[in-house]
Amino acid sequence: MHRRHILATAVAAVGATLLAGAPAAQAQSYPSKPIRLIVPFAPGGTTDIVARIVGDRLGRELGQPILIENRAGGGGTVGADFVAKSPADGYILGVATVSTIGTNPATNSKMPYDSIKDFSFITNMVNVPNVMTVNPTKVPVKDMKEFIALVKKSPGKFSYASSGSGGISHLDGELFKALTGTFIVHIPYRGSGPALTDTVSGQVDAQMDNVPSSLPFIKSGKLRALAVMSNKRVEALPDVPTFAEVGLSELNNMAWYGLVGPAGLSKEINDKLRVAAVKALNDPDVRKRLADGGSIVDGGTSEQFLQLGQRELALRREVVRKQKIVLE
Ligand code: GLU
Repeated sequence: MHRRHILATAVAAVGATLLAGAPAAQAQSYPSKPIRLIVPFAPGGTTDIVARIVGDRLGRELGQPILIENRAGGGGTVGADFVAKSPADGYILGVATVSTIGTNPATNSKMPYDSIKDFSFITNMVNVPNVMTVNPTKVPVKDMKEFIALVKKSPGKFSYASSGSGGISHLDGELFKALTGTFIVHIPYRGSGPALTDTVSGQVDAQMDNVPSSLPFIKSGKLRALAVMSNKRVEALPDVPTFAEVGLSELNNMAWYGLVGPAGLSKEINDKLRVAAVKALNDPDVRKRLADGGSIVDGGTSEQFLQLGQRELALRREVVRKQKIVLE
């Protein structure tokens, strides 16, 4: 009895030591298998483009592949919710955007997750200007002035595509309508990729998007850019005015794409991921590919990224309140 008791105590003690050492050991050997990176929008959108450029290099930095998984729907909430409810072991990460953290919770009262509390903010990868385009064969306008005049003549005749209800491109579209006193029909998609397909083919007349995904179509002349949301003109689109230049200075927001995990990621794993992501972002080839597409590399601290998320959520709530935007 006595011996058995001693043995049991010894076994329990060893067990406890193993348990206590487990997180540290886990962090040390992390990552020991591939990491899934959830993109909450369809392929072809800026979230997907950034995830693939950075993910490939990040995987090499970590010594394990990063597997991109597109889980689109609900304007980004479906994929973001999947990340929020995943185990916080570092093997399921996500790309968080201004939509999943800021505009969705600002416009949706039935959010499945808390966009600040339910995530570990690792680092913001890039900031990205937004752009409004039209299909030039369907909408024969030269510039924003002509576009507004045309739309005013025929309320409800024209449509614009967004990357999902409640996302940044939807909010920007509704803000544009509120500021110009126009009515354009909103058509939501599961991301900018499928939205672009329909705008380019002429199913939809106009689109609100981020520069990287629209840029190839603007350059090839399939889409005409009317204005960009940025403090200054975008290098890749030197002839396109900013919204401020066309008299709509309220439309001036950047989109951004950051690396998150579920809340509760250990500090060791969070730091390992942040350091590796910053290295990946500073790789000259990665930087060039991102810059050529119109992205501006960030790679700040986790604290700065959390603050960006908090600021953005407050700002989007304020825009919705001030402009009395009701999303259908
Ligand atoms: N347009 C992005 C995409 O389709 C998502 C919207 C955002 O920027 O948050 O990937």
